Amino acid sequence: MTLPRFAATSYDFTEYVPARNWIGGAWREAAGTPASQPVPNPRWGKPMSAVQLSSAADVDAAVAAARAAFPGWRDLPIRDRAQVLYKTRELLLRDLTELSWLVSHENGKIYSEAEAEVLKAIECLEYGCSLPNLATGSELEVSRGVTCGLAYEPLGVVAGVVPFNFPIMVPMWMLPQALAGGNAFVLKPSERVPLTTMRLAEIFAEAGLPPGIFSLVQGGKEVVEALCDHPGIAALGFVGSTRVARAVYARACASGKRALCLGGAKNHLILVPDADPDVAVENIVASFTGCAGQRCMAASVLLAVGAAGEVEPLLERIAARAADIRLGSEMGPVATAAAAERITRAITNAEANGARVLVDGRNRQPEGAGHEGLQAGWWVGPTILDAVDPSSEAGCEEIFGPVLSIVRVPTLEAALRIEGANPYGNAATVYTTSGDVARRVMATAEAGMCGVNVGVPVPREPFGFGGWNDSCFGHGNITGWDGYRFWTRQRKITTKWAVQRDSTWMS
Ligand code: NAD
Repeated sequence: MTLPRFAATSYDFTEYVPARNWIGGAWREAAGTPASQPVPNPRWGKPMSAVQLSSAADVDAAVAAARAAFPGWRDLPIRDRAQVLYKTRELLLRDLTELSWLVSHENGKIYSEAEAEVLKAIECLEYGCSLPNLATGSELEVSRGVTCGLAYEPLGVVAGVVPFNFPIMVPMWMLPQALAGGNAFVLKPSERVPLTTMRLAEIFAEAGLPPGIFSLVQGGKEVVEALCDHPGIAALGFVGSTRVARAVYARACASGKRALCLGGAKNHLILVPDADPDVAVENIVASFTGCAGQRCMAASVLLAVGAAGEVEPLLERIAARAADIRLGSEMGPVATAAAAERITRAITNAEANGARVLVDGRNRQPEGAGHEGLQAGWWVGPTILDAVDPSSEAGCEEIFGPVLSIVRVPTLEAALRIEGANPYGNAATVYTTSGDVARRVMATAEAGMCGVNVGVPVPREPFGFGGWNDSCFGHGNITGWDGYRFWTRQRKITTKWAVQRDSTWMS
């Protein structure tokens, strides 16, 4: 079976194949009589495909294929493995439009956001391409005639579990380092967005990746638990909500695996009165409305610092800009009908708890020319809540939608106390023109990824992506050099070839 090529302008998905497993370089039905569930298209509010829910037997089959393929891949020089990644990069660029539409349709994000995601995935891949120039190991004469050397070696069969919000970028946080490092990889995509990684499987095959080195096992919790428990899998990377990340980390570690599990977030932006309005306003709105707020780096709480009235002009401009956003063309829907209900309920609860709704995204839909037929999708418009209690749901829990909670604070210290008390630790940003204020926030915030006047402070490659506290379980970042270290193990080799005349105690 070859997947049908995806037509950008076609919204008729009846031809689209059900999502299934890619094992040993071929499409495979899940074992037994698998249950399946619809793959929703959030913009149109109807299914565009269905996904088979695999079981432990399918994980076994993927691991067996991966094990068989591993020695051949491991034994290639890293330079040869990287050539496959270079070729993959070329093919991703060739298919950029199609992949971007696929991401846009299964996830719901608008086309420009989907294209930015694919380009970011390619940037992550480029880090893998550069590894032959970086992963040189080291050697040192540690004693007269004795050298110690260090080499990075693959772990074997490894696995990744990814969320719905970035169907191709998050897999590409893991795959380049793991594959360049010589591992065989089993990926479980989100059951809500399984289609883009199916195209990726075909692209890897076209690029020359040997069968078995990349597998897809579609499904949900049952597959994840089987990956955690499988004795043939050496390491597991996970990205998703904190509740699941914590459980997956514990389960994978309990079976002796190396694990790195990234969780959810509640990101704080600190707005001080001296902020440059032209820098701050657009940036804050983009941070909480981009991808309909479904980003683990999205702004969630705006800590407005100052006496009454001081930041009012800035807040008015932020509210006006957010209210102006056109649903459908400037902002996409949220993932599911249940997500729309959950976000709407959180707004209503905040209002009942005393928050003032400055911009109301409830009951909004795309309107006007070019948006015909989209009303059945799952829409929540940009929402701004003012005077939010920092200990309420809107003040401290992840909502994962286009909702900004403004918390009023008299001083920078009060802002930092609220930011620091939140259990998550992904991102924190300050908007200021003062170097002193920026320095204090950068020295104090309880977040792994911080920004000065940058609302989505995702570290670009080669800097590693990773949060702190309840946003990350395990050690290190998932991308960059830490990623390579995570997916490899170090062999240390001490060598002596002859008896040294000028020997020391170690010789
Ligand atoms: P999720 O936790 O519901 O699902 C993530 C993955 O775990 C999916 O593949 C899913 O099939 C699987 N899963 C779901 N429930 C499970 C269970 N009980 N046991 C085992 N596996 C299970 O997350 P989501 O809704 O797909 O994605 C949104 C979440 O991901 C948000 O919380 C967001 O902040 C987070 N996220 C974090 C980062 C980061 O870098 N920290 C990046 C992207 C998304």
